[in-house]
Formats: sequence, C-alpha cells, structure tokens
Amino acid sequence: MQVQTVKVFQDFPLRGFVACASCGKPMTSCWSRGTGGRYPYYLCHGKNEDGTRCSQYGKSIRKEKLEGDFEVLLSEMKPSKEMFFLAADIFTDLWNIKRDTAKLEADKIRRDIIQIERKTEQFFDRIVETDSTTLSKPRKINSDREDSWA
Ligand SMILES: [Zn+2]
Repeated sequence: MQVQTVKVFQDFPLRGFVACASCGKPMTSCWSRGTGGRYPYYLCHGKNEDGTRCSQYGKSIRKEKLEGDFEVLLSEMKPSKEMFFLAADIFTDLWNIKRDTAKLEADKIRRDIIQIERKTEQFFDRIVETDSTTLSKPRKINSDREDSWA
C-alpha cells in the first residue's frame, strides 16, 4: 500500500465501505477548500446501469455527519440469538479442525524424529565398526527428549 493510499484510509476510514443510497456504488472521498481551510467529504462518483451519472453524483456529505451516522448504526447492531450460536458452532468447528491438523503434524514430526534417531544410531554403529582409533561412539542426540512428546 502506498503512502498516499494509507493517508486516504486514515482520513476516510469508511471510504469504499459505504455505498451510495441511490446507485449502490462505493462512495469515494475528497478534501474540499472552503473559507477557513480544507474540509473532508464523502461523495458518490457512481454511474447507473445505463452509464448515466448517479442522481447523487458529486453531491457530498460531510465526513463527520456520515461517520457519526455510521457509528450510531453500528452501536444499534446486535446479533440475534440464532446468529450468535451459529457463529459459536462455526468457530468451534474451525478450532477442532486446527487442533486435529496440529495433532497430525505432531505425529508426523514424532515419526520423523524416530527415523532420524534410527539412522543416526546406524551411522554411529558404522563408525564404531571401523578400526579407526581417532573415532569413538558419541552420545545419543537429545536422549532426554522422549518424555516431552508423551
Ligand atoms: Zn450514487
């Protein structure tokens, strides 16, 4: 995201999320110069299905007014009991799927560790079988690891 885009979203957090009541297209935003400085607005730049401009095209709504109305609307929204329990069921299902996936991954890692230990053991046995006097059998790697996976 470019710096300019970040600045637009900081100045107009609802840009792209609020739709024009007339044409249904996402509203855009602008800073408008007036007496005493620059003022922030949301406005519609949408077109109708036939390509003509929306009846609200270019008509601006003060940022404070639109965001204030949105805040009131948001505070009045409450999920129904059915929606609440449905969401709880969905989150529980997703949680169980994640837990089962993690368990499968842990099982695979456990099997990989056992296989690596087996190969390491074989490798050390071969070293010991050599007649070299400079090599000796090293200790088993992570020999105290087994309890942590139980
Ligand atoms: Zn419109």
